[in-house]
Amino acid sequence: MQVDHNTAWNNCLSRIRENIGEQGFETWFKPIKPVKLENKILTIQVPSQFFYEYLEEHYVELLRNVLDNELGKDFRLEYSVVIDTGGRDHQPYTINLQNSGSKGEKSRENGRRDISAMDLFGYDVRLNPAYTFENFVEGDCNRLARSAGYAVAQRPGVTSFNPLMVYGGVGLGKTHLVQAIGNEILNGNKDKIVHYVSSEKFANQFFDAIKNNRIQDFSQFYSKIDVLIIDDVQFFEGKEKTQEIFFHIFNHLHQSGNQIIMTSDRPPKDLDGLMERLVSRFKWGLTADLQQPDYETRIAIIKRKMQSDGINIPDNVIEYLAYSVDTNVRELEGVIISLIANASLVKKDIDLELAKQTLQSIVHDIDSEVGIDYIQKTVSEFFKISIDQLKDKTRKKEIVMARQIAMYFSKEYTNLSLKSIGYHFGGRDHSTVIHAVQAVNDMYDTNSSFRRSVDELRKKLKLKAV
Ligand code: ADP
Ligand code: MG
Repeated sequence: MQVDHNTAWNNCLSRIRENIGEQGFETWFKPIKPVKLENKILTIQVPSQFFYEYLEEHYVELLRNVLDNELGKDFRLEYSVVIDTGGRDHQPYTINLQNSGSKGEKSRENGRRDISAMDLFGYDVRLNPAYTFENFVEGDCNRLARSAGYAVAQRPGVTSFNPLMVYGGVGLGKTHLVQAIGNEILNGNKDKIVHYVSSEKFANQFFDAIKNNRIQDFSQFYSKIDVLIIDDVQFFEGKEKTQEIFFHIFNHLHQSGNQIIMTSDRPPKDLDGLMERLVSRFKWGLTADLQQPDYETRIAIIKRKMQSDGINIPDNVIEYLAYSVDTNVRELEGVIISLIANASLVKKDIDLELAKQTLQSIVHDIDSEVGIDYIQKTVSEFFKISIDQLKDKTRKKEIVMARQIAMYFSKEYTNLSLKSIGYHFGGRDHSTVIHAVQAVNDMYDTNSSFRRSVDELRKKLKLKAV
């Protein structure tokens, strides 16, 4: 029985919702409208070309899977993109685009049944050409790792940086950097066999090889590689058999003067679940870390990103974003993308107002916490002062107190850094925020009417937070 496009898409949506975060769902899937379901093609309407590209880049697999499950494998997805011509008399018109995930699905399936060495051992894992040195912004946070990586890329297997181990927290650019090394090596010499693989994929390949009696092929494949890039080796923790085979491959490659590049989310000494002899080999070459990007680097990253997308945004927005998002580069990119998407959705230019709204909705969604603007509003209403007074230079006692309480709650309820909290209170520095938090704690312990006010406010803020 055939369902109509609305039902079909709604079913897809509930699946999608189970698979991605709330923010992603709200931003990318809520605005989509189903248009028709005909000839096994589901047509969905998206608000802009950018939307279509973003979906194709980030959600193509998910969409394919959901479609397979909800409608059947022979169904396809087509996008109808609304193009706003800007003219008053012109209705926006649409162009139809095919979902790229629908192409070549058959052959992939056949391939899986008749596994060739290439498929099994992951020749399908290509380097992402978008990850280059050129667009890897340099800063204090990554200088050593970047220059070591560059040296390795110029002379793989020859420098003393073998293996090169890059470690650092999530979203700090490990994958980007090591793929940039791979791309750079291939730029210099197309014939080099550069193989990038995540540790998870490596472990799965190995598991398949055992199951299919092909360990020989597996070892042979890896022994022929000139440059092995293996991402997120912390995944090997506790997997003894996989570590064993990796140990042999490592030794073989290293002895033959081939380059090994690895990443990990922590320094080798903290990789508890790895065999000691493997960890000690990791330390043979160079270990370099990636740190959280500092303010200047964040500014440079935002500018680079905007430039490459051909988008212009005012300096005050760039500064605001750089102040507010200081966790990691991936999060920073996520915010930029949501901002561009929001601008395209409401057909407005990117300005500070829109940036604030976007950021607040994200902070809110991610942590179900209250945003700093809400805290300022609530506190100023409570003390019957204006929000401007909270931010300006007034040293009046009641206002200083309200300001300190608002800073205190901002520290408690948002994940903004001290520096960016200060920024939101009229550009004060982080030591002012530290002082405010201390002052509130002291007063809370010693002054009962102060304590009542803070408790009251906390209640109001919590109501919003749940
Ligand atoms: P990790 O592997 O450490 O989790 P990624 O390499 O996936 O992090 O980086 C996350 C995102 O941030 C990627 O889109 C990457 O291009 C970007 N990125 C990270 N560091 C930089 C940098 N220094 N310059 C430009 N982009 C960066
Ligand atoms: Mg990574």
